[in-house]
Amino acid sequence: MLEQGMSQPPGNCFTRTGILFVVSAPSGTGKTTLCNNLRQSGDFVYSVSCTTRKIRPGEEDGVDYHYISQEEFKRRVDAGDFLEHAEVHGNHYGTLKEQVQVELNGGTDVLLDIDVAGARQIRSCPDSSIQQALVDVFIMPPTLQELEKRLRKRGTETEEQIGTRMANAASEMGFWQEYSYTLLSETMEEDLIKFRAIMRAERYRSARLRRK
Ligand code: 5GP
Repeated sequence: MLEQGMSQPPGNCFTRTGILFVVSAPSGTGKTTLCNNLRQSGDFVYSVSCTTRKIRPGEEDGVDYHYISQEEFKRRVDAGDFLEHAEVHGNHYGTLKEQVQVELNGGTDVLLDIDVAGARQIRSCPDSSIQQALVDVFIMPPTLQELEKRLRKRGTETEEQIGTRMANAASEMGFWQEYSYTLLSETMEEDLIKFRAIMRAERYRSARLRRK
């Protein structure tokens, strides 16, 4: 998807390949809200993952996730349907490969909201078109205390689940250096401005342009 007036060089004689934006952050950082805001702007196609996690109030099947059983998840792993998959906080999550490839090949940017293990799998994916498309961004919460506050404010986890997510957050925060970009989380508005700055710069890269 070409950004109006930005990625189109004079004469409109170029097309661009799609960018695969991979966003990771500890649970509660505000990444899902950030991704939802980006989705609404129509800048990307959001890749709806499969998960074995239970649906939360306010979520919608096929919009937030494809909610599937453990058996169905395993069947899809065996069939090679996932670009990456990982167990996160005791549930399984996976990115559907075909959906991502079709969009990228068509020149549309794709947004993935995945954990650090999934991002690592994509970084080591042997498919060169995925490597060329990849832009990975880590969102760093201000502090662990602030993260816990945000997680509690969300009110969707039990005390036990908050404990698990906080323990995982501490280790996930150590992975920021694996990412091309690290965005220090502030308010949602500021995070959006920062993310859009990365998005714009990446859309200008000469390597992504093709003469028509
Ligand atoms: P939640 O259950 O809060 O929606 O997500 C928990 C974690 O799973 C988040 O860190 C989210 O980024 C990650 N996640 C969501 N979908 C995928 C996926 O398809 N693959 C991987 N590896 N992680 C995912």
